[in-house]
Amino acid sequence: TELSRIRNFSIVAHIDHGKSTLADRLIQLTGTVAERDMKAQMLDAMDIERERGITIKANSVRIEYPAQDGHTYILNLIDTPGHVDFAYEVSRSMQAVEGSLLVVDATQGVEAQTLANVYQAIDADHEIVPVLNKIDLPAAEPERVKEQIEDVIGIEAHNAVLISAKTGLGIPDVLEAIVQRLPAPKGERDAPLKAMLVDSWYDSYLGVVVLIRVMDGVIRKGDTIRMMKTAATYKLDTLAVLKPQMVQIDALGPGEIGVFTASIKQVRDTRVGDTITHEKKQTPKALPGFKPSVPVVFCGLFPVDANDFDDLRDAMEKLALNDASFSFEMETSAALGFGFRCGFLGLLHLEVIRDRLEREYDLDLITTAPSVVYDVHMKSGEVEQLHNPADMPDLTLVDHIEEPRIKATILVPDEYLGDVLKLCQERRGIQLDLTYAGPRAMVVYDLPLNEVVFDFYDRLKSVTKGYASFDYQIIGYREDNLVKMSVLVNDEPVDALSMMVHRDRAELRGRAMVEKLKELIPRHMFKIPIQAAIGGKVIARETLSALRKDVTAKCYGGDASRKRKLLDKQKAGKKKMRQFGKVEIPQEAFISALKMD
Ligand code: GDP
Ligand code: MG
Repeated sequence: TELSRIRNFSIVAHIDHGKSTLADRLIQLTGTVAERDMKAQMLDAMDIERERGITIKANSVRIEYPAQDGHTYILNLIDTPGHVDFAYEVSRSMQAVEGSLLVVDATQGVEAQTLANVYQAIDADHEIVPVLNKIDLPAAEPERVKEQIEDVIGIEAHNAVLISAKTGLGIPDVLEAIVQRLPAPKGERDAPLKAMLVDSWYDSYLGVVVLIRVMDGVIRKGDTIRMMKTAATYKLDTLAVLKPQMVQIDALGPGEIGVFTASIKQVRDTRVGDTITHEKKQTPKALPGFKPSVPVVFCGLFPVDANDFDDLRDAMEKLALNDASFSFEMETSAALGFGFRCGFLGLLHLEVIRDRLEREYDLDLITTAPSVVYDVHMKSGEVEQLHNPADMPDLTLVDHIEEPRIKATILVPDEYLGDVLKLCQERRGIQLDLTYAGPRAMVVYDLPLNEVVFDFYDRLKSVTKGYASFDYQIIGYREDNLVKMSVLVNDEPVDALSMMVHRDRAELRGRAMVEKLKELIPRHMFKIPIQAAIGGKVIARETLSALRKDVTAKCYGGDASRKRKLLDKQKAGKKKMRQFGKVEIPQEAFISALKMD
């Protein structure tokens, strides 16, 4: 295809502003998919994505559009992941296209994720077409939102396209805007092959499918290619374009987007951002900016029922096939038994994986408190990366500890601003910026990631009644006064409950934890001290008093069925008891203690 007849673009939007619905309309109006095969949210493949309305993996579709100028154009839409946890994937897919549609809900205006994603598009030098969606709703205020886009984002918005992705109003204008306002791709057909690995996923029939954007040269079916970062070579089995189902094609030239399969075993062998070239005639220069994505949030996942351990491992292996950024290794905990220490790109990634394990694989899981990766600087000069508070080295050997910090952007209606500022201050935040965009404020804070993985998002939602939007990016590591807090039950340390905390917040956290445990641990025939400690020093303490012998006696009156129920319940409970020295703690207590509220 001639370069001037190609347009490659992505859609950036805050969650729920209508990205998927618009993609559906574009596919539908151009007859890319036959009417009888249309289903809502064509590009959102996974169930969880559909339910939560988020797109995790980038997807792509090739649309043929006969424009008003009489020519037929090939429009390639790359659907980028909608969440900041996948920022690196977003930035790669942005590099693969020349323009973006900026979709903003005309009843809501610009939100935190709109900003994060549009800045990525601006960084990638995109031409940006603002699209105001949901103008069928009476609450739509397109004029106000246009102004907001100009004020807050700083791009031209007077010629924004007004649409209703729901009713189809304005969709032809979007197609024309893509052709007229977005630039055609550039590239040299005669140069050695240079293509970007944009995404990859595992298909049970085809193996690993690799999505690429050709920059220079031509890739053909049967070619032997080389991935420049991994130095692996493969022979192409199939080459195809996505409509959105795979349609085989003989060759892809500069500016084109498509997929190939090449008997690649696992997604891990394909690095997003890698450069693909020919084995024989290699490009002299790889694409710039490659960086592998690394997990930043870790937690333990344990089966509630120890018999599910093997199933859990199988399920994780399956998920990891399709997700190179999810990592796990076996872990044993005295409290929770056998399980896994897992690494994620962020909190949403964690939630998505956990949800999939529970729903798709029907597993009951205990999640330990999420922890970030700390850099522990030893007196010896070495730096250890701490993924699990249980592995914290002896304090006398430690010089200092550094923790990851984030830049958080929060958009919130004025009336809740005070509460948001208070929350950020409490969480050791440093205010970087505070501006107003109409009736809403935009606050930017430098915050420790550790305070954010601990229930920040839930608290933010509750103090703002759900009206705040939040986004973040990691900005680096900084030293702070961090300590490991251990929890002791009857003088025995309970590994699953230890956590890293800031020294100034330790008492507060410690007290909350021991009070909660006092409620959760059943009384025994003896007194049980419950303590939170830093090093050898106890910072909070509660005592669970001994059980008086006659307490259960009165339970055993009443009718037989109630008695049986009670016995059954005790039996079920027994199974899930964990022994700590002389103390039995129900599994349920850990689950509740680790639940953050
Ligand atoms: P995404 O998260 O950006 O992909 O958003 P979706 O496309 O999933 O849309 C979110 C919700 O808004 C869905 O319930 C859609 O039906 C609804 N929606 C999308 N576009 C419109 C529109 O133009 N008008 C109205 N009234 N609702 C819309
Ligand atoms: Mg969507």
